[in-house]
Amino acid sequence: MTHYDLFVIGGGSGGVASARASAAHGAKVGIAEGDAFGGTCVNRGCVPKKFYVYASHFPDEVRAMTHYGWQTSEPSFDWDTLKRAVFEEVARLNGIYDSMLNKAGVTVYPKRATLEDAHTIRIGDETITADKIMIATGGKPFVPAIEGSEHGITSDDAFHLETLPKRIVIIGGGYIAVEFAGIFHGLGVEVHQMVRGDGILRGFDGDVRALVQEKMQQKGIHIHCQTSVTAIVKEANGSLTLSLDNGEKMATDVLMFATGRVPNTESLGLEAAGVACDDKHEIIVDEWQQTSIENIYAVGDVTGRGLDLTPVAINQGRAFADSHFGNSRRNIEDMVIPTAVFSQPPIGTVGLTEEEATEQYAKVDIYRSQFRPMKYSLAKSEDQVLMKLVVDGDSGKVLGAHMVGEDAAEIMQGVAVAIRAGATKTDFDRTVGIHPSSAEEFVTMREKSHTHTNDRRQAC
Ligand code: FAD
Ligand code: NDP
Repeated sequence: MTHYDLFVIGGGSGGVASARASAAHGAKVGIAEGDAFGGTCVNRGCVPKKFYVYASHFPDEVRAMTHYGWQTSEPSFDWDTLKRAVFEEVARLNGIYDSMLNKAGVTVYPKRATLEDAHTIRIGDETITADKIMIATGGKPFVPAIEGSEHGITSDDAFHLETLPKRIVIIGGGYIAVEFAGIFHGLGVEVHQMVRGDGILRGFDGDVRALVQEKMQQKGIHIHCQTSVTAIVKEANGSLTLSLDNGEKMATDVLMFATGRVPNTESLGLEAAGVACDDKHEIIVDEWQQTSIENIYAVGDVTGRGLDLTPVAINQGRAFADSHFGNSRRNIEDMVIPTAVFSQPPIGTVGLTEEEATEQYAKVDIYRSQFRPMKYSLAKSEDQVLMKLVVDGDSGKVLGAHMVGEDAAEIMQGVAVAIRAGATKTDFDRTVGIHPSSAEEFVTMREKSHTHTNDRRQAC
């Protein structure tokens, strides 16, 4: 029977990172992947999504071109060309993952694996043992139990639609819903987004939420707040009729659920191994990624710990490898986690929102700047950039930074380093801007927008 120092179940962001880093430290490592290496991010997440976002930007670029003197004929779009190009690239990346694992000396099992007990893994007819086991099986879309929900699709399917629909309804107000609303709108589809709450992106900074929602609506995306779909009926002509909780009916070609994700913990043998899950079926881990069983660990979306983001899963996996095979015990608890939403306009954010800071700090200063980006000023477009710093009014430390506008993700990565280093507003003020850029605004905001004092909710 083959025995490993570490066996990893799941070849996505967290699993591959755990396996490669552990092998690099000299461990004997095996990894099983039941689908395609690279997991959600490479095959049906970050990577294809970002390509589709790029594709959907071109109409705005073309509109702006004419204001810069370029003459163009009306462009047309071919959905099949986009799908083919993106998934050729995804296939190339799958191959790269496979060869990276081989080069690292990791034994690859291209099959689904299950646990038989705390040290035994079953892969088809084969039984394997390991000192340590890493579970990195990720998650899958959650579809609420609505009458007719089988007629809907999820983000997994959205990339592969046979034809580009004329109309789509997207249920949800989170990351996936707003990103796909922007994608489909940019590609020329009539988009309706159904949000059960009072606005999109619950949990993000209030100013950010409000501006992105306003700009999405201005572009022509129909956002229906406090609206739920209660039933879906498929008509003879293939279209869908939706019943809404306000009593109205709506017709659409495609309905997409973007209503959160659930962990892949079903039929994994967790009970046989004694691994405990919480009430959302997520594996319970401590800050060292250790489960309720001493030699079994879990990283990424399958756990209830940390944000469900690729770099989080990767860093958890690498920290595990360093701790167990590299003699450098560490976890990711003190890491700063910036995030971006590739909405249109996009968001970059790190640290506390204004709302969170006012709950936690006695005095909070807000610096805020909103302006039309230079690139679109000739085009006289409605685009706006928002930049915002949330500052501890007592120590001057920058607690959070938020941006809406082009390149927000690129800009926020650098700002996150400053925040991790504990930068104060004075440090920002003492940094010279790069001109002309949008980013320079982060170091030139001198006037406070407002201050929150002890009264926590009252801005003065
Ligand atoms: P996964 O990447 O899901 O990998 C789990 C792997 O385990 C899968 O390949 C699966 O096939 C395999 N598996 C499951 N069960 C078994 C088994 N029993 N045996 C063998 N293999 C098994 N994050 C970002 O940071 N930025 C983004 O822009 C971004 N965009 C996203 C867009 C979409 C549409 C989605 C859905 C997600 C996006 N995410 C993004 C989130 C990101 O994809 C996940 O956080 C990340 O992939 C989690 O990595 P993971 O290793 O935990 O799981
Ligand atoms: P989110 O948790 O971001 O959003 C889920 C949305 O669905 C929320 O608006 C939620 O509403 C709504 N919802 C949940 N249940 C129902 C229901 N029964 N009926 C109607 N609405 C419902 O999940 P996503 O699926 O958008 O994305 C999953 C995760 O993947 C993200 O949290 C993120 O971690 C990751 N991701 C990251 C991306 C990036 O980094 N750019 C891009 C895409 C995904 P409410 O707010 O009221 O609960």
